[in-house]
Amino acid sequence: MTSDIQRIVVIGGGQAGGHACKALRSEGFQGQLMVVADEPHDFYERPPLSKGVITAEEPLPKLFPEDSLAALDIHWHRPRRATHIHRDANQVELDDGTRLDYDRLLIATGSRPRLPVDEWANIGNVMTLRSWTDACRLKECLAIGRRIGIIGGGWIGLEVASSARKLGIEVDVFERAPALCGRSVGSEVAEAIRELHQHHGVGLELERQDIQLNEEQDGRVTILADGRAHEPYDLVVVGTGVAINLELARDAGIKTDLGIVIDAAGHTSDPTIFAAGDVAQHPHLGLCLQSWAYAQNQARVVADAMLGKEAHYDEPAWLWSDQHGVNIQILGVPTGETHCVIRRESSGSVFFYLDHDNRLVQMVAFDQPRAIKLGKRWLEAERVLDPEALADPDFNLMQLR
Ligand SMILES: Cc1cc2nc3c(=O)[nH]c(=O)nc-3n(C[C@H](O)[C@H](O)[C@H](O)COP(=O)(O)OP(=O)(O)OC[C@H]3O[C@@H](n4cnc5c(N)ncnc54)[C@H](O)[C@@H]3O)c2cc1C
Repeated sequence: MTSDIQRIVVIGGGQAGGHACKALRSEGFQGQLMVVADEPHDFYERPPLSKGVITAEEPLPKLFPEDSLAALDIHWHRPRRATHIHRDANQVELDDGTRLDYDRLLIATGSRPRLPVDEWANIGNVMTLRSWTDACRLKECLAIGRRIGIIGGGWIGLEVASSARKLGIEVDVFERAPALCGRSVGSEVAEAIRELHQHHGVGLELERQDIQLNEEQDGRVTILADGRAHEPYDLVVVGTGVAINLELARDAGIKTDLGIVIDAAGHTSDPTIFAAGDVAQHPHLGLCLQSWAYAQNQARVVADAMLGKEAHYDEPAWLWSDQHGVNIQILGVPTGETHCVIRRESSGSVFFYLDHDNRLVQMVAFDQPRAIKLGKRWLEAERVLDPEALADPDFNLMQLR
């Protein structure tokens, strides 16, 4: 580790920020570690917010137990927002005017829900889901609501739909595209997800292009979809994607594209500034992943690089979702390289997307976590696979370890 690094500032007290701090300390950083966080809580992870937190009594899903967190010896600035990065002075300015000096800076500001229509923010019973505060509010609404509408048939919207059905609530999902989760999976998987939701009584309104919301006098919300009014909902949850929190970096003149542009070690275009998590555009895929695994593992790699160590992030994209009691895992991202799609049915469905040479492009598994573990190895080894064997439910995939 280079001795010129005495002060590290991390902007963002989320998953990437938390794991970076942990890794910095375990890699031997003994200097001042400052975290600027606009939420008042200790580091926590978000996946449970759309699952167990709203259906059960799960507490704040903290990343670290109290004693481990205390051992990190963090100087917190919270709840405070970083408002400006003064690169010429190596300082971060906060919303109370404080300026923090840094030798290395990590931007881990994540992303925020995006509303398709700004005015929807003024409707009382319309909400998005990103934070613990949002989840607590959603939980309260679900405790008294009878019917909810969901705008957006992506992962968050569908997980909320699943959780609401678990609580016995009527749910309709409105999606602009003809398929669910269409940006991250192929049509075969989208169809399987559609069947799963229909089987559990979720109303699906696909290909609804023009969505308008009207607030009724009693506070309920009517959804007008392509001109058709649906019976008012007690609550409308909007899950139509995110905006990446890249303004700080962009305003400071750091190179941005869809997110902050980084290399495989998390370096931005400024050698003293790094980025991790949702805000950091994936170094190889050129997109912002929004995945728990990326936020954790890429941040750990970046921590090494911040201390001047050799570091390289090269894991395949991986994320998961839990819906109606089914665990869905997605390995890899859809690309134009797919040549054939194989569906395997054996105590759960697995979809393999293969390229011209029968190498794995993407794999999606329903209740088959072991298959995904294998898939990770195949991807890493660029293994050529036998489509017939993959499709054969009697063939044991473990033979291809
Ligand atoms: C409801 C929900 C469910 C999810 N489920 C899954 C799942 O099942 N599987 C999966 O793989 N992924 C899931 N994800 C995605 C995953 O949680 C995110 O990819 C991950 O949280 C990203 O971590 P991050 O640290 O980059 O961002 P975040 O966790 O969002 O942390 C960023 C923090 O920075 C703060 N911040 C922003 N700007 C500033 C500023 N200027 N000053 C100070 N603080 C600032 C933000 O408020 C936030 O607290 C889910 C996400 C949500 C919201």
